[in-house]
Amino acid sequence: MCGIVGYVGPKDCSEVLVNALTKLEYRGYDSAGIAVFDNGEIKTVKTKGKLQDLKDKLAEVGTPKGHVGIGHTRWATHGEPSDVNSHPHSGARVTIVHNGIIENYMELKDFLISKGRTFLSDTDTEVVAQLLDYKYNGNPLETIDSVMAELKGSFALGIMFKDFPDRVFAVRRESPLIVGVAEGECFIASDVPAILQYTRDYYLLDHDEIVTLSPDGVSFVDEHLDPIEKELQTADWDMEAAEKGGYPHFMIKEINEQPEAIRTTIMPRIKEGLPFLEECGITTETIKNFKNITIVACGTAMHAGMVGKYVIEDIARVPVNVDIASEFRYRNPIVGEGDLVIIISQSGAAMRLAKQKGAKTLAIVNAKGSSIAREADMLIYTLAGPEISVPSTKAYITQLSVMYLFAFELALAKETISTAECKRLVSALTKMPEAVQYVIDNCEDTCKFVATKLVATDSLLYIGRGLDYALSMEGSLKLKEVSYIHSESYAAGELKHGTISLIDEDVPVIAVATQTDIIPKTISNVVEVKSRGAKVILVCTDACARELKDGVADYVIEIPHTDELLMPITAVVPLQILAYYTSINRGIDPDKPKNLAKSVTVE
Ligand code: GLU
Repeated sequence: MCGIVGYVGPKDCSEVLVNALTKLEYRGYDSAGIAVFDNGEIKTVKTKGKLQDLKDKLAEVGTPKGHVGIGHTRWATHGEPSDVNSHPHSGARVTIVHNGIIENYMELKDFLISKGRTFLSDTDTEVVAQLLDYKYNGNPLETIDSVMAELKGSFALGIMFKDFPDRVFAVRRESPLIVGVAEGECFIASDVPAILQYTRDYYLLDHDEIVTLSPDGVSFVDEHLDPIEKELQTADWDMEAAEKGGYPHFMIKEINEQPEAIRTTIMPRIKEGLPFLEECGITTETIKNFKNITIVACGTAMHAGMVGKYVIEDIARVPVNVDIASEFRYRNPIVGEGDLVIIISQSGAAMRLAKQKGAKTLAIVNAKGSSIAREADMLIYTLAGPEISVPSTKAYITQLSVMYLFAFELALAKETISTAECKRLVSALTKMPEAVQYVIDNCEDTCKFVATKLVATDSLLYIGRGLDYALSMEGSLKLKEVSYIHSESYAAGELKHGTISLIDEDVPVIAVATQTDIIPKTISNVVEVKSRGAKVILVCTDACARELKDGVADYVIEIPHTDELLMPITAVVPLQILAYYTSINRGIDPDKPKNLAKSVTVE
């Protein structure tokens, strides 16, 4: 997640770029920069830090004067936040800004090095700048097109060629980019708020389309370089709505951002088909001797930890204890030398206690530079971008993704899985962004409909077994957070030991069944509650739905079958969407549920 902007027009370009970037600050960033044609030369100013740092640097070194330029706020994925790694990046005749990840950058970098090219930064972006320069044939569109054919991954690029001082080019695949137009001027931006202060008219750029911004306006070509016409859009939102990207709430916007968030989080941590966590301090050597693991977290993060427990125990055969941070802290927990304590998100005090007791610590956090991040022995950032809605969605899904990568690495270190099996699992994980997108596209309507049936509910139960139980805890929390309906999650087999007495026609049951070997068991629990009058909503795989006898469940939400171990990543999505629409139907603002704050700083 980061911000890209570009401008061609009569105004002072540097000022427009910085103003536009300010409106993208909500996306989160760690560095900023601009490049502007100043008297026919591309002048670049960039720095680690915030936009204020960029403004200070511009004041110090001189603000480029011109009318054509590109700007960037970076959320580092490849290479630490630093002046050198900040964007724009250049080859001899090309300067670019980039949002996203070039998955095959190593391969391309090796190729360019073999051709005698040298690199200044650690970024994947500079590889694209150099490749554009290497392939440049005097025709920008042909050059961009041939480079795009070689790139794998997600990107939005703003590009300037030295030979074309009145133009900005842009292209995108997966990462967002819009093209703004006004009288005599045009813009590119990652999101509409960036341009709203100048215009409300914009075009949506589709995957692999290239746009040219010039003093004559904008023109588009497709991937075959054939000219295309696009439909002009008009933003009728105010600024707050614009920041929601046209979605009515941040919660649903962030649910929709999950495929991108997973991709951004996992792709830099995979190399040659295997987990690559060296930059996080994790190698097979550093983790192979841990005998016990404790995961400490609160709320949603604790539920990500529950999934982590099932996965680590299953494939790495290391016992995992999951603890609530506020309990861990005051209980004189049994952790010490030789143990690993994993802290997910906000539990600084618990981490310090674990360190005092001699355990090694691994922090999984989204916020760069937090004290937990500084103090942990090992550190994995989730790269979800800022989460504004109070109920967490994309942070949870990236925490899960990271737990999987760690579990795969640990299993390799413990030699409980083969390299081939690990590669198979990693490859399955890389397919999850697509699978999550599929679920969002195909389940939203069903969830919306089922949510209408929950409006008048006072209390309900979630049930599941194994990974489905771990997941149903998160489904239950999400629903109660945003709908104020009382709900509990139960291991399905535990129901009959007491809780089934609560079941009647007014207490619906949401059952999750994604794990093939235990589906029949969960279904028999479904039959039990159904025969006591409960309305049942079943979230299950398409394969399970096909086998289902008529009338077993009242509503079925089907999700595609992926690798069994990874099912929580897709199965959580309908639970989030169901919670969202139930909240809306009950007239609640899901972004700001009562009594809750985004960041809990008191116990
Ligand atoms: N992968 C690029 C980098 O690390 C771009 C990151 C971003 O989207 O800001 O520089």
